[in-house]
Amino acid sequence: MNKNHDENTTVSFFKKEVQRFVKERNWTKYHTPKNLVQAINCEAGELSQLLLFKDFTKETILGEVDLATNISDEIADVFVYLISLINILDLDLTDIFQQKMKKNKVKYSKNEFSNGNYYKK
Ligand SMILES: [Mg+2]
Repeated sequence: MNKNHDENTTVSFFKKEVQRFVKERNWTKYHTPKNLVQAINCEAGELSQLLLFKDFTKETILGEVDLATNISDEIADVFVYLISLINILDLDLTDIFQQKMKKNKVKYSKNEFSNGNYYKK
């Protein structure tokens, strides 16, 4: 697996690639907001199932080629449906990411959460 691709790939590439894939198969009619949200959940479930009742470490996962491939495939499935949802809602991923991160930085300020807790005491 080439780990340098992320350095040179744009969000636009993903959006166009998914849009073309869906269009070429005439699946646009099925890619409604509800269907895509449910598909994201289904694929996230498949990802979750791979780890259900197992406490694999990162090293274990990376050391088992089939497991690592299956996990990668399910991550990609979630991502593809997420990109399709972004496409049909005409969202700008960079914009919504930056806006949400700004909110997260306020909600989870460094001062209050630098102790490693996920919740306020
Ligand atoms: Mg899948």
